Amino acid sequence: MDILPDLKLPRITQSTEPPSRSALGQFDHIVIALPQRPSAQDFNRLPQAKQLKTLLAKAETSECVLSRLTNTRGTGITIARYTAGTRFEQLTWARKALAGCQTERPNRIGIYAVGLGGQEQSAVTALVAAILAAAFRLPSFKSKPEKAWALNDIKILGLSERADLEPLRARAIGNNIARWFTALPPNALTAKSYRQALQSLCKQFNLTYEFIDERKLARLGAGAFLAVSQGNADHDAGIIRLRHRPRRQKTAALSLIGKGILFDTGGTNLKPFKGMLDMHTDMQGSAVAIGSLVALAILGVPYPVDAWLAVTENRISATAYKSQDIVTAANGTTIQVIHTDAEGRMVLADTLALAAREKPALMIDFATLTGACVGALTARYSGVFSNRQAANAITRLAGSQSGERVWPFPMDSDYDELLHSEVADIKQCAASGSGDHILAARFLSRFVPASIPWIHVDLSAGQHKDGLAHIASEITGFGVGLTLELLSRQSPAELATELA
Ligand SMILES: [Zn+2]
Repeated sequence: MDILPDLKLPRITQSTEPPSRSALGQFDHIVIALPQRPSAQDFNRLPQAKQLKTLLAKAETSECVLSRLTNTRGTGITIARYTAGTRFEQLTWARKALAGCQTERPNRIGIYAVGLGGQEQSAVTALVAAILAAAFRLPSFKSKPEKAWALNDIKILGLSERADLEPLRARAIGNNIARWFTALPPNALTAKSYRQALQSLCKQFNLTYEFIDERKLARLGAGAFLAVSQGNADHDAGIIRLRHRPRRQKTAALSLIGKGILFDTGGTNLKPFKGMLDMHTDMQGSAVAIGSLVALAILGVPYPVDAWLAVTENRISATAYKSQDIVTAANGTTIQVIHTDAEGRMVLADTLALAAREKPALMIDFATLTGACVGALTARYSGVFSNRQAANAITRLAGSQSGERVWPFPMDSDYDELLHSEVADIKQCAASGSGDHILAARFLSRFVPASIPWIHVDLSAGQHKDGLAHIASEITGFGVGLTLELLSRQSPAELATELA
């Protein structure tokens, strides 16, 4: 099984000229974004205006018209009425507008937005983002493989100012990486094959690779991680550390930490069938950390970045950990195990503690951590938590600007009373389960020194039926866009200062 994705994106070009009739003939498909009520002037700026006008008039009630131009190529055409709104709404509009075009699998696509009163660039970039996501081939293991969408060219037409597409391209590649690894079946993505794939990715994007195996973790005193991995017969688990190191700087400015549970059975406290069905996706946090790191490397950020991936399975086994086990984490904190299905916070505890030893300016972790977060927000938003109050507004804004929406939850210290243990420093979780997303974040905060600003993202929006924003697949890769947005105008050190 080939477990490396094909990350090549189609070529994207831009022309400030509005398209002529003959220019439309170069495309297999053209997507035209128009206002809700296009004026005669808008139509005058379109080639083949008469035909388009008739088409639109026929479909008064629909937001989106799919047809074919009367040229020799029979160019497919999508006319989509654009509604200005939040970035999330723009991206959602783009995904829906492209549904018809996607079934045609065109090789060359043209995009033209007209009459949107200054919103042309937003509409066009939303469409490009949706096309890049839709054209990416997710893992498929059919014995007769479906023909891949061979999209070679996207051309943006008539945009008065050229759009800066580099961030969009980097985000698309990062998101594709995140979705790819998450979608792989659990017998294809094992600890070993994940490591091999990441070594290849590191070569491709000039990153450094390091693996901290179970033996080294034992020496580092990572008893919380090892409690989870001890149920794996092959002892192949560990923490993978990837580094982006421009200018040979040693210490990371930014550390991205990801939960990489390759399959979560729940462990000794076994999950029921439906709860376990999709648990190969429980490594999405690690995939989002990798995708974010690669995207930042593609953008050539001048500061050093680390990704720390906690990779293991949570298995049922004669040697698996149990309720009431007491283990000691790498920072010396003793933990009373309550529920073996709360394994994510156990592996993250040590991974956060080890990442913190390097004293990065900022730490961000990603994890499909709690059902409680999905219960609170549904799978449309992800939850954010931080040891800095100021992060709430900043992460919400980045969520709204990226279209990956997040909502902050309380981090008041009195929640710790619910994690009070009679026999150890802290309980892993409360037996009741209510507010578990908040308690999980409070638990994790014990492994991040107060001196380091830290943002925890509980990926409740990692999986959403029928897609989310511009992403059409159920696995969303949520988190890459948010991270890039957070760092789009400032370095991690500057962001850390703003959070202080
Ligand atoms: Zn679990």
